[in-house]
Amino acid sequence: MIVLSVNAGSSSLKFQAYDMPEENVLISGVFERIGMKESFYTIKINGEKIKKEVELKNHESALEILMEELIDNQIVESLDEIKAIGHRIAQGGPYFDKTEEMTEENIKKVRELSALAPLHNPAAIKGIKAAKAVVPNALQAGAFDTAFHQTIEEENYLYPVPYEWCEKYNVRKYGFHGTSHKYVAYRMNEILGRYNTKLITCHIGNGASISAIKEGICINTSMGLTPNSGLMMGSRCGDMDPTVVTYMTKQLECTAEEMDEILNKQSGLLGISGISSDSRDIEDGMKIGNPRCNLAQKMFTNRIIDYIAKYYVELGGCDAIVFTAGIGENSIHTRREVIDGLAALGVKIDEEANECRGVERLITTEDSAIPCYIIPTNEELMIARDTYMLYQEKEKEKELIENEII
Ligand code: ADP
Repeated sequence: MIVLSVNAGSSSLKFQAYDMPEENVLISGVFERIGMKESFYTIKINGEKIKKEVELKNHESALEILMEELIDNQIVESLDEIKAIGHRIAQGGPYFDKTEEMTEENIKKVRELSALAPLHNPAAIKGIKAAKAVVPNALQAGAFDTAFHQTIEEENYLYPVPYEWCEKYNVRKYGFHGTSHKYVAYRMNEILGRYNTKLITCHIGNGASISAIKEGICINTSMGLTPNSGLMMGSRCGDMDPTVVTYMTKQLECTAEEMDEILNKQSGLLGISGISSDSRDIEDGMKIGNPRCNLAQKMFTNRIIDYIAKYYVELGGCDAIVFTAGIGENSIHTRREVIDGLAALGVKIDEEANECRGVERLITTEDSAIPCYIIPTNEELMIARDTYMLYQEKEKEKELIENEII
């Protein structure tokens, strides 16, 4: 059966079609510059990548073209073969702790949460509406970046601010990258061959977060109300004294929106190095002795080490540390610095094993107190798995109703 995994942005739409439950990728790609001039899409099929320039008026026209491609490439004979579509949604607030069917009522909740994710939730709704119009018979599911973190206890998700802020305004920690943390934690447990584990998962990309996971359940995570908290990131500041915000808003005589833009887009590695938000550029800068790149990298890794140490204590030990996402999977240098910084916990790097990019691998020595692994993340597959499971549940429900058991 075919399941589509969709990640809609305001002007883009990424997709991946899976044959489930075998999990074979049939086709993948991305539509870009939707609703703009010079729009185009790229698709990857049988290892071949094709780029086509085409007018994309809106998300619906993108999905219509995708359906034509599925038929032309003989992936499906009829659209009825697409049984379910899983949509990535950034903010599920307190409402969603798992992948759910996107009924009109649930879409309303997603819309209501747009104030907390103004760039992301409205885009996801566009994707869902377009998919409903183009493939009306498929189950539309929403997979939330926040859902995996809904198991975090109140004492860990509340901020020490007036209690009513949470009740009235939904101000609390939600966490993000949940689909990725869930995927790598599941895979880590598979590798360890047991599920009663204590894991620290480090999703270190342009956006970065760390989670503490006990027996498959998330007990804490570094991102918060928005994806700009916890670690220092490519261009986001992460944790700092909140008074910096009020003080600098006055000094710069800027608006709250302008300050938000600075803290999200001009801070982090970019803000400190002054050259780039991309860790490859920072590493290049370090090679030629740029002191601001050295400083940015040191601050970046120090914060990762801080969170790992904190979660080690919170979990009461740790069975494995996982590195994933762009930097976690690819930056030999960052992994080495982080692992060296954990020497007090008895963690020891295997230098030779660490010389790799984008592969699943153990990168610590046999006598390391905690093993560290690289596990490439696969959020699209996790969304497809959850969507497939939801589809099966719904089919079972239908069967029971038909047989008048319910
Ligand atoms: P996001 O999904 O948050 O945009 P990614 O997970 O794709 O981010 O990670 C992007 C980051 O990965 C880039 O900013 C880059 O710094 C880093 N990266 C990718 N390849 C390498 C590499 N070979 N060495 C170091 N860093 C890399």
